[in-house]
Amino acid sequence: MDFFNLDKILSGQPKYRRGQVWRWIFVGLIDDWDLASDLSKELKELLNEKLPLKIDYQLVADRRSSKAVIRLFDGEVIESVLIENKDGRHTVCVSSQVGCPLGCAFCATGKGGFKRNLSAAEIIIQVLIFARLLKPDGGRVDNIVFMGMGEPFLNWDNVKKSIEIFNDPQGLNIGARSISISTCGLLEGIEALIKFPLQVNLAISLHSASDDLRSRLMPIANTVSLRELMKAVKKYLLVKKRKVMFEYVMMEGINDDPAQAVELIELIKNLGAGPVMVNLLTYNPTGKFKPSSPESIKRFKKILVEGGIEAIIRESVGGKILGACGQLAGKKSN
Ligand code: SF4
Repeated sequence: MDFFNLDKILSGQPKYRRGQVWRWIFVGLIDDWDLASDLSKELKELLNEKLPLKIDYQLVADRRSSKAVIRLFDGEVIESVLIENKDGRHTVCVSSQVGCPLGCAFCATGKGGFKRNLSAAEIIIQVLIFARLLKPDGGRVDNIVFMGMGEPFLNWDNVKKSIEIFNDPQGLNIGARSISISTCGLLEGIEALIKFPLQVNLAISLHSASDDLRSRLMPIANTVSLRELMKAVKKYLLVKKRKVMFEYVMMEGINDDPAQAVELIELIKNLGAGPVMVNLLTYNPTGKFKPSSPESIKRFKKILVEGGIEAIIRESVGGKILGACGQLAGKKSN
């Protein structure tokens, strides 16, 4: 679905047509141009040919989450997840790449290797799928998180373009403050986000406050030290004045020891800027690691909070459909 070719497709048409067509895609949320009641038959035919709205996907639903398994034009498969929050708001977790080259030890996506970057349109259709599904019941996509397959900063140009479309007041109109990018710690990406004029949130996949353990879990940590990462985070905090989230996936016997919570407190205190928050995530087992017990997670959180660090335990949804954090692998569920 090439939204970015619209001017070419509509060349020769009156200027106002672009806005009309745009609104059908992003506000009307139609999946067939025949439903665009105020367009001529000829234009609908042209659009059905040049900009077909059908998306090839299958839906797997669980209690409060749904996963879309999307087949792209070249046969590659990506996944996105819709999560219904307890307050009724809807969050879509989008992918930015087919696979991921960073190979984090605990992540299903990383295990499958890297195929290619997604185009901006391929990122946008992930949100369109769920926006269309929610519309008949009066629902909408409230939040977008780039926490699906891939490292968003390795595909920044297309991620940026998609964010501009999500944020467009004439379209989906999702506030920049409701859009979050999660990174393993690419310094040039954080720098680019600092320069990006929209107030998009930053989340850091931290998972350990030790360079040694981090580099065993996440190969990127061999080239980006925690000192460099924290320096970039501090700059983001000072310039953007937005809260930074530290994502911490709790793995039994790996990073859930009380001493590691103390280490994390020190790392955050040494940052010397804020506000920050730690999201403690239950690990969804996809390989050799085991999730920490609920007791260990609660104990870890208590130490952080008593140490003056804001921390929450984020409920894991979507595990049954392999749609929770670190589980998106581009494979169909059975
Ligand atoms: S955790 Fe993120 S960056 Fe690491 S391999 Fe998985 S998708 Fe890639």
